[in-house]
Amino acid sequence: MLEASDLMVFYENMLALNNINIRCAQGQIVGVFGANSAGKSTLMYTLSGIMRDIQKKEQMAGGERITILGDVLYQGENISRLKPSQRARKGIVLCPERRRIFSESSVLENLKIGGYLASPAQARKTLRYVFDIFPALEKLKKRVGGFLSGGEQQMLAIGRAIMAQPKLLLLDEPLMGLSPLMQAMLMRATREIRDRMDISIIVTEQYARPVFPIVDYAFILENGAAVMEGTREELMDNPDVRSAYFGVEESHA
Ligand code: ATP
Repeated sequence: MLEASDLMVFYENMLALNNINIRCAQGQIVGVFGANSAGKSTLMYTLSGIMRDIQKKEQMAGGERITILGDVLYQGENISRLKPSQRARKGIVLCPERRRIFSESSVLENLKIGGYLASPAQARKTLRYVFDIFPALEKLKKRVGGFLSGGEQQMLAIGRAIMAQPKLLLLDEPLMGLSPLMQAMLMRATREIRDRMDISIIVTEQYARPVFPIVDYAFILENGAAVMEGTREELMDNPDVRSAYFGVEESHA
């Protein structure tokens, strides 16, 4: 479904992605884990094409020089040169870090905005589906985005991304700042979305623990490089991964 090879991104001379090779097969949930500044958002921007917009903006403003190297193949096609909107039309939809919902628009308006790529019938059907997965959103549909809790905002951000009819959903740090209970609920919902909509998902997160139960395969990023990868089972059996990404308790287990 998606295969990115030899991805490198430089902000001026600073290497943010260092020769990354990453794959996501049809129907898979792939995790990308790494500490602050490891390059998770840069990777998601590169896959979704937003990195090209950032590059152009910087160029026009006479700001920093951004270099993007490597190829992104999606369903057999090299999409490295496509704009984010063209990639979105092909089904690559990014749900960005820090939610970025429209805080002055209602929940329902936010969702409808997400459905701009869908036909009206498709949008209605997907809206029903979003409310099925996140019943809380239906109750809050008239509330403006700015008055939602962090967890509700994240549900809305995921719901809006689903409205765009993704085939490959990119979830950038969806759990940041949320309670363990909310994190578990969002991960269950994410798995259900994959199962019911038959889409592929790449999810980044700083801590692997809450995401690990739902991933099929995962990559570990350090300083912009993928230092380890494997199936969930392979990584779980690796003592280095356990101590570094699952905290102290697990390393004694
Ligand atoms: P976080 O968890 O903090 O979001 P991340 O893993 O998503 O981290 P990135 O945001 O991709 O990491 O950043 C990777 C590196 O690139 C960091 O060192 C960051 O400071 C740097 N960086 C990101 N954006 C820019 C930019 N526009 N200009 C210069 N450096 C940048």
